[in-house]
Amino acid sequence: MKRYSAFAVAREALTGHRGWERAWRRAQPKARYDVIIVGAGGHGLATAYYLGKRFGITNVAVLEKGWLGGGNTGRNTTIIRSNYLQDPSAAIYEKSRALYETLSQDLNYNVMFSPRGVMMLAQTEHEVRGYRRTAHANALQGVETRFITPAEVKKIVPIIRLEGPRYPVLGALWQARGGTARHDAVAWGYARACSAMGMDIIQQCEVTGIRRDGDRVTGVDTTKGAIACDKLGLVVAGHSGVLAQMAGFRLPIESVALQALVSEPIKPIMDCVVMANTVHGYMSQSDKGEMVIGGGADGYNNYTQRGSFHHVEETVRALIETFPMLSRLKMLRWWGGIVDMTGDRSPILSKTPLQNCFVNCGWGTGGFKAIPGSGWGFAELMAKGHAPLTDSFSLDRFREGRFIDESVAAGVAH
Ligand SMILES: Cc1cc2nc3c(=O)[nH]c(=O)nc-3n(C[C@H](O)[C@H](O)[C@H](O)COP(=O)(O)OP(=O)(O)OC[C@H]3O[C@@H](n4cnc5c(N)ncnc54)[C@H](O)[C@@H]3O)c2cc1C
Repeated sequence: MKRYSAFAVAREALTGHRGWERAWRRAQPKARYDVIIVGAGGHGLATAYYLGKRFGITNVAVLEKGWLGGGNTGRNTTIIRSNYLQDPSAAIYEKSRALYETLSQDLNYNVMFSPRGVMMLAQTEHEVRGYRRTAHANALQGVETRFITPAEVKKIVPIIRLEGPRYPVLGALWQARGGTARHDAVAWGYARACSAMGMDIIQQCEVTGIRRDGDRVTGVDTTKGAIACDKLGLVVAGHSGVLAQMAGFRLPIESVALQALVSEPIKPIMDCVVMANTVHGYMSQSDKGEMVIGGGADGYNNYTQRGSFHHVEETVRALIETFPMLSRLKMLRWWGGIVDMTGDRSPILSKTPLQNCFVNCGWGTGGFKAIPGSGWGFAELMAKGHAPLTDSFSLDRFREGRFIDESVAAGVAH
């Protein structure tokens, strides 16, 4: 793999940029792999990367029915934070946030990680108590957050209206090293590194069936033919229920569309991420100047990757209460992605009823931030059969009533 560097850019500039290689090889499936990962979103690609990097397992294929990163990984609003309440969540999200800090160097690919700070507004007394509690929990977990006053909020975000027509800003939970990253670049960076290790990333290759011999998986049927494997990882977010059905078991997952929109680009007005959970909306400004605005999830199960007018209206109406200047902006585009929701709003990284089949899903509305940490832990689970980072997130917890309740954090979990 040719290294990307300022020197390489300068050299290529002098020679007409004819020396760049494809970022990843265009691969066709082999007859057999040690590991097949279904789904070339961030979580699938990160899993493949850490299988190679940490465990030397490189006879790996990542199968993708569309184009890589074309699922939720390329559709999210890119917020990265680790200020969750429960210990297992804080551990995996903080591991992930920490990996993001050096991911560009690790992958030799600029993922544009921008630790610009994430602010979660407290607009009711209940939220004040909740976020103070989270700040205390985070202190014990080694996650750096603090509860800040309205005056501090106004200093960091001058465009905010503190008094609000319905809900005044009473303070906020502030994570200074939270932020954003470029979502496509995260998928592309992992894909390039996987390809360089000799792994096959096979796009336009839909898995249509899972072959079994008793309680063992022997391979998959795909639109490019049958492929055998020793281990199978299902990492398909909103389609997890569909793949589980192919494998012959059920998952406690519901799939719904989550929506987002961006405004026309404007000059810099806000240099952190603000989430307003009570009125339901959140916002950051992209490097191009667009206001990236996150909306709600559809209230019914569906597989449509589309936005809808009523969500746009609800979200913008809510945000204008706190940011009146938004009312002057035009909307540029809106979209949706199929998110995979669990009852306790925590992910599933687990063995399954099939011996050599593993599942990584349930990240719901908030899995972009978790890509490096999830890949790190899930690769270990697949390689060794258990992993400290993922053990609490097994499917057993639903049977045993051992929930990891992040439903408050995940009301707007992005
Ligand atoms: C609008 C929106 C905003 C969001 N905002 C944030 C945010 O700000 N911060 C945050 O942390 N998270 C956010 N999320 C959530 C985050 O995007 C997801 O949790 C995360 O991207 C999931 O990644 P993944 O790799 O599991 O899934 P995906 O990226 O969806 O990848 C799964 C892949 O599997 C493929 N696939 C499905 N079925 C098959 C099959 N049969 N054969 C082969 N391939 C298949 C799909 O095509 C897809 O590419 C948001 C999500 C949405 C939709």
